[in-house]
Amino acid sequence: MNAAVSLPITGRCYCGAVTLTATRAPQAVAYCHCVDCRRVTGAPVSAFAAFDEAAVTFAPDEGRNVSANSGVSRSFCASCGSPLASRFDYLPGQVYVPVGLLDQASELVPQIHSYDSQRLPWLHIEDSAERFARSSRSRLADHGEERGTAASGRA
Ligand SMILES: [Zn+2]
Ligand SMILES: [Zn+2]
Repeated sequence: MNAAVSLPITGRCYCGAVTLTATRAPQAVAYCHCVDCRRVTGAPVSAFAAFDEAAVTFAPDEGRNVSANSGVSRSFCASCGSPLASRFDYLPGQVYVPVGLLDQASELVPQIHSYDSQRLPWLHIEDSAERFARSSRSRLADHGEERGTAASGRA
């Protein structure tokens, strides 16, 4: 998946104080319709690229860290507030970067809808991406390998 994306992947926050570089393609790209991601991004749906933590570098650093839910850590540019990264205890070794930060966003096609059960009723995205009623952690933890299992809606 996303094999065609040009490397390195680069990006920056709104004000440019923080830049990031990823040396490998993301393991997955997913929409997240959950309420938390809506608040974090201010958008009706968020889209994240899931990278191997070791493949991503933030410069000069990852900004300000906020943890409002146990097991979830999110960082934001200390100057402009752009969301930079999310980490989930149940998805160890991965860092989730908003696709909107990335210069190669047009090449990073989401394959997953997470928390489709929380999707805003007026938001309609017509695609064939796999839909999970709740967390797609089982799929994300696969690191992009196809398992052939249908969306089950299990958390
Ligand atoms: Zn900034
Ligand atoms: Zn979410």
